[in-house]
Amino acid sequence: MSHQSPVEPMQESQVTSQSPVTYHKVSDQFKVPHSSEPPAVNMMTDNGNKFKVANRVSTFGTNLWAEFSSLANEHKATNIGQGFPDFPVPEFLQEEVRKAVAKPSANWYTRAQGHPRLVKVLSEEFSPMIGREIDPMSEIITTVGAYESIFCTINAFVDSGDEVIIIEPHFDCYKDDMIISGGKLVRVPLRPQGDGSLAKNWVLDPTEFEGAFTSRTKAVILTTPHNPVGKMFTQKELEYVASVCKRKDVLVISDEVYERVTFDDNKHVRICSLPGMWDRTITVGSAGKTFSVTGWKIGWAFGASHLITQLNHVASCSTFSAPTILQEAVAGAFEYERTVKDSDESYFKWLPAKLQDNCKKLADAFSSIGMTPVWPDGGYFMLVDTSPMHWDFSADNTGREHDVDCVKWLTREFKLATIPTSVFYCDDHKDLGSQYIRVCCAKSDATIDAACAIVRGLSKKSHC
Ligand code: PMP
Ligand code: GLN
Repeated sequence: MSHQSPVEPMQESQVTSQSPVTYHKVSDQFKVPHSSEPPAVNMMTDNGNKFKVANRVSTFGTNLWAEFSSLANEHKATNIGQGFPDFPVPEFLQEEVRKAVAKPSANWYTRAQGHPRLVKVLSEEFSPMIGREIDPMSEIITTVGAYESIFCTINAFVDSGDEVIIIEPHFDCYKDDMIISGGKLVRVPLRPQGDGSLAKNWVLDPTEFEGAFTSRTKAVILTTPHNPVGKMFTQKELEYVASVCKRKDVLVISDEVYERVTFDDNKHVRICSLPGMWDRTITVGSAGKTFSVTGWKIGWAFGASHLITQLNHVASCSTFSAPTILQEAVAGAFEYERTVKDSDESYFKWLPAKLQDNCKKLADAFSSIGMTPVWPDGGYFMLVDTSPMHWDFSADNTGREHDVDCVKWLTREFKLATIPTSVFYCDDHKDLGSQYIRVCCAKSDATIDAACAIVRGLSKKSHC
């Protein structure tokens, strides 16, 4: 079965311009009077300091996704950078949205900690996988994307001065959420060992990992399958991490948003299912990644009720609840998937096979010109080593790392958008990533084919 039909890639103009939709005219009585607009603020007046950004967020600047996505749009590049599938939503998911919107109560606020139908489905889905009954009403929360689950977890548990250990390279939002909480990130890099062209050979050094713990350590953040390396932590590796976390008595935040995308014979292992880990682990998931609908922004976290309750306290004062219609549709999608489980109609069977196939095509294209891909165990991403190339991209010298200039040059000169890898490291460790670019295999056939054609057209001597 194919869950992918041809689709036009989204153009910047579609993002920025008005869609040709006719809206009902709003009657004049509902129009906002002009005088109610906020007064224009002159940031340079004596009152200026009242509008000064709060110290804790003043270092944020432009988010990396905004930076590299707008670069891709500006150059109308083939985008294998940002991690969003650009293939269309399969019919069964569209049908679930239609059914949801037609149901009156699905258009109302739902239960703050999670729409009852969705938390029930998630409990039925994950309980057998972790070997214990997850209580749908107290041990699961649904959120606005996995982003919100991570935000709520960090802000529920991390105090100013607390330390959290993170494995580098890492997805960027962990860092910013930590800045908001006032906590301190302590980074431990994955080290490629032996054949570094396999993601599974990027490993934790036990001395570095255990040396990172102090009396202030509150939690460890894990990502498996990993963004951006594509590593899936094995049972043995997770047993080791679990044993250290138990010995040091810390929480584990396990980001498993790419759990459905596993390649070859790799098995996704959930650290919360290991002995003694349930009471100390918060597991994060994403419907956006599970059903390739990143724009739906439905995520969840599950764990012991004493942990999940705290996430709910943070969520209740920010978003209160995630969109009901989409929670309803995600629940319907899981229910539908159950009816086709293991058959050729199964989305969960189709998705990893398709993304592995895409990754293989990209890996072959990069290898054909002498670049070395780091073959992933699973997930959306693959790193590619640019060091064998002798490219001259001096015109794009930003004063930042080599990979940032390389990505800018590929986007501008060859209309191929990728993501640098050094951006997933702290300033002190950026060198560890600066020879790699990250590519995303969760893309339509049209995007993958266009990207492979561009890559095959590059040569060792390409220059600006
Ligand atoms: N965790 C990781 C590792 C991610 O790559 C992402 C990006 N999608 C998220 C969390 C956020 O997921 P969501 O889109 O569901 O908020
Ligand atoms: N998680 C996605 C990635 O790593 C992007 C998230 C975003 O665009 N904010 O590419």
